[in-house]
Amino acid sequence: MDRVFWVKCPSCAKRFNVDWTLRHAGYDLICPFCHHEFLPDESPELDERWYGHS
Ligand SMILES: [Zn+2]
Repeated sequence: MDRVFWVKCPSCAKRFNVDWTLRHAGYDLICPFCHHEFLPDESPELDERWYGHS
């Protein structure tokens, strides 16, 4: 399982996970719920815990 991180959309406040490779890539994330585009650092919540199997 690839590593992911969780963000919270600053527009609609829903959480979704994103592939880890996008964490520091400098690309906008697109919210799957409201299609708002934002950078990971603009998320009001960031969860970088490892969710894969050990
Ligand atoms: Zn949203």
